[in-house]
Amino acid sequence: MVDRRDWMTRAADEAIERAQRRPGGGKVVCASGISPSGPIHLGNLREILVPHLVAEEIRSRGVPCEHILSWDDYDRLRKVPAGVPADFAEHVGRPLTAVPDPWGEFPSWAERFKAPFRDALRRLGIEVREISQTEMYRSGAYADGIARAIAAAPTIDGILGRYRTLQPSPAGSRPDGSGSDGSGSDGSGPGGSGSGGSGSGGSGSGGSGGSGPGRRAGRAGRGGRREAAAPGGALDVPPADVDVAVDEGAADDEGSASASAYFPFRPYCEVCGRDTTVVVSFEPAAGQGGYSCSACGNHGRFDVRGPANGKLVWKVDWPMRWAYENVAFEAGGVDHSSPGSSFTVGGSIVREVFGGEPPVYLPYSFVGVRGRAKLSGSAGGAPTPADALHILEPAIVRWIYARRRPNQAITVDFGAEVLRVYDEWDALNRRVGDGAAEPAEDTVVARSRGTVGGGPVDAPRTVFPFRLLSSICDITADDPTQILRILRQASGGEAAGGREAEVDGTGQTPFTLDDLQPRLDCARTWTTEHVPAEQRTIVRTEPDRAALAALGADEAKALAILVDGLEQDWSLNGLTALTYAVPKLLRGLPADAPATAELKQAQRAFFVLIYRLLVGRDTGPRLPTLLLAVGPERIRTLLTAAE
Ligand SMILES: [Zn+2]
Repeated sequence: MVDRRDWMTRAADEAIERAQRRPGGGKVVCASGISPSGPIHLGNLREILVPHLVAEEIRSRGVPCEHILSWDDYDRLRKVPAGVPADFAEHVGRPLTAVPDPWGEFPSWAERFKAPFRDALRRLGIEVREISQTEMYRSGAYADGIARAIAAAPTIDGILGRYRTLQPSPAGSRPDGSGSDGSGSDGSGPGGSGSGGSGSGGSGSGGSGGSGPGRRAGRAGRGGRREAAAPGGALDVPPADVDVAVDEGAADDEGSASASAYFPFRPYCEVCGRDTTVVVSFEPAAGQGGYSCSACGNHGRFDVRGPANGKLVWKVDWPMRWAYENVAFEAGGVDHSSPGSSFTVGGSIVREVFGGEPPVYLPYSFVGVRGRAKLSGSAGGAPTPADALHILEPAIVRWIYARRRPNQAITVDFGAEVLRVYDEWDALNRRVGDGAAEPAEDTVVARSRGTVGGGPVDAPRTVFPFRLLSSICDITADDPTQILRILRQASGGEAAGGREAEVDGTGQTPFTLDDLQPRLDCARTWTTEHVPAEQRTIVRTEPDRAALAALGADEAKALAILVDGLEQDWSLNGLTALTYAVPKLLRGLPADAPATAELKQAQRAFFVLIYRLLVGRDTGPRLPTLLLAVGPERIRTLLTAAE
């Protein structure tokens, strides 16, 4: 029998089952994690949206569910991000919450990138419980987990060794596996950290991290998080910032070692604040140890019994938190599922060390970006959710992520494709409204339009086609009064956008500009930023007298028919009928005569003539839209030869 459940339904079934199998049962926890190391881009949004949509499915069944967002803000700064003064290098190796915001606007580097992302989540209707890993480590919440990990260091080392030998080389070439695991990993051993710390800034890790958002990506550069960004189809995105977090030093993944023994905890140096430390001793009974710092030469002590000044390495930190938070569902970049990846290794570690179970896990694929996006992120790079929300309504952003299975790549297109996406969304909503949609379509539309607890996301109360709004913004140079006038007239007897636009008895639709939001602002932004200057429409202020004087007799007659008929039905529909009818009327045919090839050719020639006289080009916005925008008097002036 065919499994008709969509991916969210399937994942929810499994997550609920997983949660109920655990002692105590309780709510179903869906987890996301992001390292706020740079602008958080559309690839990272998948890290949030996949668990969000699964959590929504769980909530819709009345099952208690919580979506947590772990901010991996206790991760080290890996490199000096683009656009930041070079002397920022001194902060490399410090936790993201201890690094200042170079522009002085936020309490820390981490907060600078959390703020806009948080705002985008709110607009997308996504509710999460945020967890700062800095606060968790510094509060002592993880003391037990850290103690267990240290006590089980040989076990962990053995697990890591097992996966290392398993790791096939192809996977190794992937971001995840690659350098991170295999490579020097241990080699860099203790000093490993040195990698980062050694100030090489990038050490092999290539760099990434800093600007990259990745989530744990950061942590481990792990896949999706980072990959999410670049990939496949990120055509116009500057590669530099897209490819996020590369592998942190292998050492970060696998743990530092004290000379010979594996050690899964790395202290931050008390003097310089960096993680450029090597553990030189540890007394299990006391829970204390000593380290030396390669950056400042400090020899210090650390204590893991209470508030921690340091953290578990990523591959141990992640499973520790699965156990701590009782995570039942999580998603991660595709590379997580390769042998030796942090998810597979974590599965063994959580069972053997923390007595827990790994969550139900869905790997997600890339999010590519096409078309130019004007970037909001101060550090530049890949487009962020905030950038997308300038162009796309929140429901459409949700839909773009919900309609694809996580293992399918997504492309967010900021170019001309935007028009098609809006058309497709509107058509889908009409089908749903008419009861003509497939059940799967009903479901995805419901999931896109709002949430169980928060209701609908922001959407226009009066729906006009995006391409019409864009044309009108273009033609009117964004004059709000004109926009409203034209749209009200456009409706004429029939709202252009569908059922939402109610028309009252006078033929005037009662909507205001507010009713058109956020779509109107999206259309305005898209038109301004994405329609090339040479395609913008500029209506002539004066008639083209030379062209008018040179008109043939038939051309002049056709224009006269048009001008005379303008106000018979001043609406989009009326003007559409009129413009197509003119060449027929000119030939003495009825307006509804069937269009022959010859008539079609005459229509095209007539349209070109009008475009030339109104906007000085051979093409332009749809003609009825243009006429509506220009208004009857000005049309008359521009199309009529002076006497
Ligand atoms: Zn130091």
